[in-house]
Amino acid sequence: MPAAKASAGGYGAPSESGTIARSITPYSARMDIYKEFTFEAAHLLPNVPAGHKCGRLHGHSFRVQVHVRGPLDPVLGWVMDFADLKAVVKPVIARLDHYFLNDIPGLENPTSEVIARWLWRELHGSLPQLSKIVVMETCTSGCVYTGD
Ligand SMILES: [Zn+2]
Repeated sequence: MPAAKASAGGYGAPSESGTIARSITPYSARMDIYKEFTFEAAHLLPNVPAGHKCGRLHGHSFRVQVHVRGPLDPVLGWVMDFADLKAVVKPVIARLDHYFLNDIPGLENPTSEVIARWLWRELHGSLPQLSKIVVMETCTSGCVYTGD
């Protein structure tokens, strides 16, 4: 009985089916990266029942995650430059920071869900790799939106 041949390439060598090799090729993966932003803003929710606390004027320290998805660049080893992501998102966040959200067109009823969809619509044109937006209005309450 002949001795088993040692694997020529070791870990990562093409298998007979090719399946293993594809799954571990370092730059074939599509990945999400994200950057987190914060803004302070006031709002009230005009459509809640009378007496609901969210109908009163109040503020939050909102936290926003903006996710983009794409293949890894084979040379740079990233999906995109975090600085490029920041450059696109920061001016949009600045339109919310220290404002009364209800005054902003599209945010007349500024729930976390409506804010997430508004951000998506503002960002998607210049950020086609956009894959997810997370809006948190408190440490324990938030919304995850992955597009229309
Ligand atoms: Zn609120």
